[in-house]
Amino acid sequence: MQTTIAPERRARIAALGYDYAAEPHERLTACNLCGGSLLVTLTRRDRYGYPAQTSACAGCGLVFLNPRMTAHAYGRFYDGIYRPLVSAFHGRLIDAQTIQGEQQEYAVDRANMVRPFLAGVGLRTMLDIGGSTGVVAGHFASEFGLRGTLIDPAPLEVEHARALGLDTITGLVEEHDFQGQRYDLVLICQTIDHLLDVGGTLRRVRDLLTDRGLLFVDIVDFRAAYLRNWSVEDATKIDHPYYLTQETVQAYLRRAGLAVVAVDYAADHLHVSYLCRPAAPEPAALPDPAGVTAFFKEARYVQNAPRPQ
Ligand SMILES: [Zn+2]
Repeated sequence: MQTTIAPERRARIAALGYDYAAEPHERLTACNLCGGSLLVTLTRRDRYGYPAQTSACAGCGLVFLNPRMTAHAYGRFYDGIYRPLVSAFHGRLIDAQTIQGEQQEYAVDRANMVRPFLAGVGLRTMLDIGGSTGVVAGHFASEFGLRGTLIDPAPLEVEHARALGLDTITGLVEEHDFQGQRYDLVLICQTIDHLLDVGGTLRRVRDLLTDRGLLFVDIVDFRAAYLRNWSVEDATKIDHPYYLTQETVQAYLRRAGLAVVAVDYAADHLHVSYLCRPAAPEPAALPDPAGVTAFFKEARYVQNAPRPQ
């Protein structure tokens, strides 16, 4: 379905004066999941109205922004534009302070999911990747008696996390030298869709896990996002370079050597969480081809059929 952005929302976003098109971009020629080079242009604008295109890999169905901003441009984006943009979209202030309440709720909910798998295992150390202000890592650390480390690129949010008693690293997991340090629990909470290299990061994380270690990761399920909006465009946004589905994330995990031990549909019906343990990598793992065909048909249907009543 063709949707339009409400005039008030459009005006709030325009008032930010952010010129997305003028930022430096790079065009991707290969799929980050399967390496395929046949890419289908899926959409031409995002939910904010920016001229951000997504591609879908014809081979595996992975969806990603393409072209997308360079790492440097994303650095600037997170340092001042991201939170105001999300605030303008929703029409209310969303910042490091206001997210604390919902982060706490999220932390309690996710801790309940993993608790049965952590009991009696004797885990001691935890790394939270992209952990923002540390609400989630702080809750996990106290709930499960873990020594928590948080890595995030936003200096102000890292400061909050340090005040909660967490060890902190200001930076990116893709670039930081961990000097052989490994962790019993790694969290990638509401973060994987923001990464620039999902495959590389998951392989890195696999190496950061101890033999008894566990990874918690969750995705915004792209299919859930476009079905609820009945718009593929409105399920895309410049803050998410990747749009994962249950099929693509599971292929990513298998390739990296991460075996899923638990799956959980969040109460919001949008996020899907995975708890994984180290396993032998399956570098050729792919989504089922029938599922890829069904995905393209469904996205096309949503783009053209009337919203169901
Ligand atoms: Zn692919």
